[in-house]
Amino acid sequence: MCGIVGYVGYRDALDVVVDALRRMEYRGYDSAGVAILDGNGSIAVERKAGRLANLEAELAETGHFAGAAGTGHTRWATHGAPTDRNAHPHRDPSGKFAVVHNGIIENFAPLRRELEDAGIELLSDTDTEVAVHLVARAYAEGPTAGDFTGSVLSVLQRLEGAFTLVFTHADHPGTIVAARQSTPLVVGVGDGEMFVASDVTAFIEYTREAVELGQNQAVVITADGYTVTDFFGNTAGVVSRPFTIDWDLAAAEKGGHDYFMLKEIEEQPTAIADTLIGHFVVDEQGGRIVLDEQRLTDQELREFDKVFVVACGSSYHAGLLAKYAIEHWTRVPVEVELASEFRYRDPVLDRSTLVVAISQSGETADTLEAVRHAKEQKARVLAICNTNGAQIPREADAVIYTRTGPEIGVASTKAFLAQIAANYLVGLALAQARGTKYPDEVAREFAELESMPALISRVLESAPKVRAIARELAHVPTVLFLGRHVGYPVALEGALKLKELAYLHAEGFAAGELKHGPIALIEDGLPVIVVMPSPKGRAVLHSKLLSNIREIQARGARTIVIAEEGDDTVRPFADDLIEIPAVPTLYQPLLSTVPLQIFAAEIAQTLGYDVDKPRNLAKSVTVE
Ligand code: GLU
Repeated sequence: MCGIVGYVGYRDALDVVVDALRRMEYRGYDSAGVAILDGNGSIAVERKAGRLANLEAELAETGHFAGAAGTGHTRWATHGAPTDRNAHPHRDPSGKFAVVHNGIIENFAPLRRELEDAGIELLSDTDTEVAVHLVARAYAEGPTAGDFTGSVLSVLQRLEGAFTLVFTHADHPGTIVAARQSTPLVVGVGDGEMFVASDVTAFIEYTREAVELGQNQAVVITADGYTVTDFFGNTAGVVSRPFTIDWDLAAAEKGGHDYFMLKEIEEQPTAIADTLIGHFVVDEQGGRIVLDEQRLTDQELREFDKVFVVACGSSYHAGLLAKYAIEHWTRVPVEVELASEFRYRDPVLDRSTLVVAISQSGETADTLEAVRHAKEQKARVLAICNTNGAQIPREADAVIYTRTGPEIGVASTKAFLAQIAANYLVGLALAQARGTKYPDEVAREFAELESMPALISRVLESAPKVRAIARELAHVPTVLFLGRHVGYPVALEGALKLKELAYLHAEGFAAGELKHGPIALIEDGLPVIVVMPSPKGRAVLHSKLLSNIREIQARGARTIVIAEEGDDTVRPFADDLIEIPAVPTLYQPLLSTVPLQIFAAEIAQTLGYDVDKPRNLAKSVTVE
């Protein structure tokens, strides 16, 4: 996590850097800091705990730092409390070097001891600070003395862990040296100006030309160009990937909403439609599903005898839904695992295992490590992610991109829905390769997916009603969510949204589990949100869930029921009824999740919380 930016060019660097931090604040907001090179041998640094606004207030008092090069950082603390002292940039004792860092330097403890033994006093509790002292020492004496880039490279070779680092030196105001290992770094290529950043939103206002750095690469930028090398300074065989950003600044702005998340909820129909584009190609057989990138043969797709889905948070809930679809369509067993647990329990994997890794950012550390573990065991990996060229898709054998545009709200909405659609594409691709579905059946399922955007738009029309219920319930201590079959992951997702946005105690249960424990929680007035299956598609489940609602209502619960339009049987048992269009069973989560997102956002807003930046959280979790 954390947002990093570096700028060198002709504009006012402080303005560029602070604007960039504002756009990347979703990546971390424990503290923020800037370092501006004045061009005359000094670096001005300001850092402040808390939101970027605190830094801006401080900068307003200290006065403007003039300069045409600088770096900035929004922190998501891993080592050391979120205080001014631990905020980045960190400097060496001479005050000439400054560094900003995303990630964790795992071998910082021995390096710190080495520095302390050499009499250097470290001023923060971070893992980051060792890097700047080591570079300053390499610059002061030894083979790289006086060589800025060489000093940085020599230190990069010693660091372990995941890091993006951006270094500046007061006496080299026209040069910035940056590097990445596992965490993200992109270069923005302007005309007479250059950027490095964690994310293209940092510089999209100025240029759409970008370069994605590969693993273990360093880049030196000046106003006029950039050079990519490995950590040993070699350019030969070092491949970086230039690309043109195909969305604009408006997509990264709030579009008239108070919060990005509210805009992103409304963008869901477009997100699904865009994700589906180009995935069904008509041919002489009737048509076939195609992936975005496929380095797997159809033969390989046929030979998988097991699928693992690995993911975290909301992506994990999307993965739980994948299980229903993939098993139903292909009859291949699917296990869904939390990525953070996966590699530590030594799962049974081999060449005939397909691992589906889901990560919005494509850089989630837990998922990336799960992917690497799977590959070591010779399993094949299919990635579902939203960020073109991110690490997880780069390491995967096949990729489906969720084309939702940037998701800025920390709580996932449009990416979650698009992940469900992408999972279903995986299921259909496997089914067609294995022949468990005929081409016309695959075409029918794809048509169902294509009908979703219009139906999601209809669900969005019920937002005022959902918001009214949410405002009434804003001050309750607990909300429970119940579902069965595909409604169960939806219940889990509804509860997660409420926890992360409104800091409420919320739990999702498989309704069948109710009598095995959770029913003891039911008391007078306790709100329970129930996701009803269709009475047509899953009649058995429907009647069972109806009984569950009666049981909780009899014990005083307030029932808020999400049910299919025209499902009159549920009316007598619903204190509040939210209707959604009737769709085949597997597609209902694409609709039933939407009111739960609106519900959680409205409660959070009513309680006065920042919907885009919930406390303690950050987007793109690049640490394990
Ligand atoms: N490990 C560093 C720290 O705790 C960087 C964290 C980040 O990525 O923001 O300061």
